[in-house]
Amino acid sequence: YEGPLEQVAPCQWRIPKTYRADMRVDGLIFADDALIGQIKKDQGPEQVVNVATLPGIQKASLAMPDIHWGYGFCIGGVAATDPEQGGVISPGGVGYDINCGVRLLRTNLEWADIKDRIRPLVDQLFRDIPTGVGQRGAFSFSKPELIRLLGEGVSFVVDKGYGVARDIEFAEAGGRLDGADPGRVSERAILRGADQCGTLGSGNHFLEVQVVDRIVDATAAEVMGLREGQVTVLIHSGSRGLGYQVCDDYLGVFKNAPKKYGFELPDWQLACAPVRSPEGQDYLGAMRAAANYAWCNRQLLTHQAREVFARIFGKPWEALGMDLVYDVAHNIAKFEDHDVGGGVQKQVCVHRKGATRAFPPGHPEIPEAYAQVGQPVIIPGSMGTASWVLAGQPGSMIHSFGTSCHGAGRMMSRTAAIRLAEGRRIDKELDAIGIIARARGHKGLAEEQPAAYKDVDLVVDVVDKVGISKKVARLRPVGVIKG
Ligand code: 5GP
Ligand code: MN
Ligand code: MN
Repeated sequence: YEGPLEQVAPCQWRIPKTYRADMRVDGLIFADDALIGQIKKDQGPEQVVNVATLPGIQKASLAMPDIHWGYGFCIGGVAATDPEQGGVISPGGVGYDINCGVRLLRTNLEWADIKDRIRPLVDQLFRDIPTGVGQRGAFSFSKPELIRLLGEGVSFVVDKGYGVARDIEFAEAGGRLDGADPGRVSERAILRGADQCGTLGSGNHFLEVQVVDRIVDATAAEVMGLREGQVTVLIHSGSRGLGYQVCDDYLGVFKNAPKKYGFELPDWQLACAPVRSPEGQDYLGAMRAAANYAWCNRQLLTHQAREVFARIFGKPWEALGMDLVYDVAHNIAKFEDHDVGGGVQKQVCVHRKGATRAFPPGHPEIPEAYAQVGQPVIIPGSMGTASWVLAGQPGSMIHSFGTSCHGAGRMMSRTAAIRLAEGRRIDKELDAIGIIARARGHKGLAEEQPAAYKDVDLVVDVVDKVGISKKVARLRPVGVIKG
């Protein structure tokens, strides 16, 4: 990226809308001096500019410090559009993996309790939890059941016995978006989803066993039930083939929207339609159904992880304290009330594409238990470094439509990572530093090697400094299963 980047505040870089005639608002990237250097190396910032041209976009086209190139929108991108001003909804602003997200489970185990059994534990997780492309799961739902699942979200699988009421309360949006319309999900998408609920998927998706290695905010950590030395489980997955198919279907449907509704796009990957158009409404109905599927997927993965722990440690999961800390989406579009400038509150369509909601203390949409400390924001780093738990802060409502980063963010393409791994065994390297990694093949581990990602500690420093979300606890990996 060769265009302008003006530092306007600590960790805030502006791309003025004078840069390109088609920009409707400024671009704004959150990063420190070290990260901005890396960020300029790919086309992520130009994608921030492209998004700034979308009809109805409010305030600024935003990017978090984990920004990198993505389909249409950059990963780490945030855009809010106003439906009343012709604001659009864009599948590329949600991503192919609709409601990809993470959830964190705590346990009452300490590292000392599991140290001797970490290998059998990871092996059993890898045996029992399906990973890899197109892999089938242990659960299969008939079409009528699947249609209910798409409409009802997590409560549907909890009612079937795969979880407890608390799991619903501690998921973003209660694990269900209103307005899901399974009738807008294609036959093909439903077919792809039928036996994939409760599977991890490939590549970047994982289930990781971790140890809390540092507490930064003791009060918030206590409220979240986290303490140093404790074992946690982090699950990262999304809507599998079903969500992918929904995205693909609607990119097709939206192809003619610019002509029909009279706007231009700088990149056809930004395909979109006005929120208040039949096409826009159809996508929203399907996207919400896919989001509900993803929450069910993470719930079924949770159920399987709990069963494995129960088997290995010889106690029911409840006795192991395997409660859900929180579940967050990081690929989603939602309607929320925000200040769009000058103290004006509006309901806008917030696209979060590789970005996490980070509502502050007292926000009505977070569980009562977290009212004092803010919404847990869960940030995976890499299988060889660390991950973080943050808490949403008031700055998110001022700066970023209630949003924070979603990970460390890629620094290297998958191809470059594979090249870098030539002649190496990533699993053995991880083993040597005390991390047991299991995957279907070496290629996946190569693509996901820690060096392919930015330094998560630096990324998290930025959102902490800006006041979007504050550091609560750092987690280090001890075992991971990958797609
Ligand atoms: P994405 O949703 O963009 O695919 O991934 C989110 C983030 O997960 C990445 O930016 C990366 O920082 C992180 N990540 C990828 N693989 C792993 C892993 O195996 N373990 C952990 N803890 N984080 C990972
Ligand atoms: Mn993800
Ligand atoms: Mn995903």
